[in-house]
Amino acid sequence: MVSDLACDRCDRSLLAFEDVRYELEITVKAAYDPMELNLDEIMNTDHSAEIQRLLKLIESKSAAELEAEVYKTFKFDLSRSLSKRGPR
Ligand SMILES: [Zn+2]
Repeated sequence: MVSDLACDRCDRSLLAFEDVRYELEITVKAAYDPMELNLDEIMNTDHSAEIQRLLKLIESKSAAELEAEVYKTFKFDLSRSLSKRGPR
């Protein structure tokens, strides 16, 4: 296999046949709801226990695993045939 750039949709070589190529990037991020906290909850929560729990969780996973859980980018190279065809 040559290190040739090919369309991820139709496998056509993008360097040999296409004068224009497109890059499609999809980013998936974890979305969090804003935490609902009140003073009572904050005062009555055992923070050290929660921090210990989180540290254990982090230790059990690799950096890549942790990153994949919150942020992931997919990148595709596409030939012009995609835009010529247009939406169905
Ligand atoms: Zn293509």
